[in-house]
Amino acid sequence: MATFKDFRNKVKPNWCPGCGDFSVQAAIQRAAGNIGLEPEELAVVSGIGCSGRISGYIHSYGFHGVHGRALPIAQGVKMANRDLTVIASGGDGDGFAIGMGHTIHAIRRNIDVTYIVMDNQIYGLTKGQTSPRSEMGFKTKSTPSGSVESALNVMEMALTAGATFVAQSFSSDLKGLVSLIEEGINHKGFSLINVFSPCVTFNKVNTYEWFKENLTKLDDIEEYDPSNRMLAMQTLMEHDGLVTGLIYQNKEQPSYQELIKGYDDKPLSKQDLKMEESKFNEL
Ligand code: SF4
Ligand code: MG
Repeated sequence: MATFKDFRNKVKPNWCPGCGDFSVQAAIQRAAGNIGLEPEELAVVSGIGCSGRISGYIHSYGFHGVHGRALPIAQGVKMANRDLTVIASGGDGDGFAIGMGHTIHAIRRNIDVTYIVMDNQIYGLTKGQTSPRSEMGFKTKSTPSGSVESALNVMEMALTAGATFVAQSFSSDLKGLVSLIEEGINHKGFSLINVFSPCVTFNKVNTYEWFKENLTKLDDIEEYDPSNRMLAMQTLMEHDGLVTGLIYQNKEQPSYQELIKGYDDKPLSKQDLKMEESKFNEL
């Protein structure tokens, strides 16, 4: 049986020393090993950005796509090969700016893909510009007087779009991140895991220390219930989105694949796709 070591390859990441993305890479490898996957049973699809390099650093099937387009490719992979576990990954600029249309529709489609976003609240690869996750007032080369746009609360957005699995983590919390990725992979439907992954080179505000001071673990909130969507939204609003853990999970809603007649019978390319009438009527 494979372990996390079998998901390593010989490619040396060229991330800056201290970048949060190293932990996300390690967490994916550990989660895959813990679940009992073999490298040939996993596909990692990424977009463009520093974090987008991750598909080349994991020993599995991999596809380094174009900017903002990891999700269409990942969904296509899953539909074409039902036997693969599919992880899509990229940065906050990739998924929440140019790729936002794909993100929202993948969420509401509830296709069985795990989407891991490395959220550093900046564009790292292009040397430090404001992203949709940068706070108002954030100074960068593109906003020297401070950003005049408000940051997007992606966890609230995901709940509103009908997500069935919403989680958030911090790259310093490897154990918690591994556990959430395992839960995300095991979830039957689309899972969004936003990971605060500090950019040590360009973001001098949202540092490791800043996150340690500002994040609240949902495990520490008494009687938090991740099956309660209203409570999830309320908690996000109360903490300005700065929580970590499983925020919301709906185990009842069928995945996209479960509603496609014959999806489990034979490869998609050989199928006449139809929504199964009986299941459709139950919705
Ligand atoms: Fe990581 Fe930032 Fe360096 Fe990119 S520029 S590798 S996000 S620390
Ligand atoms: Mg970024």
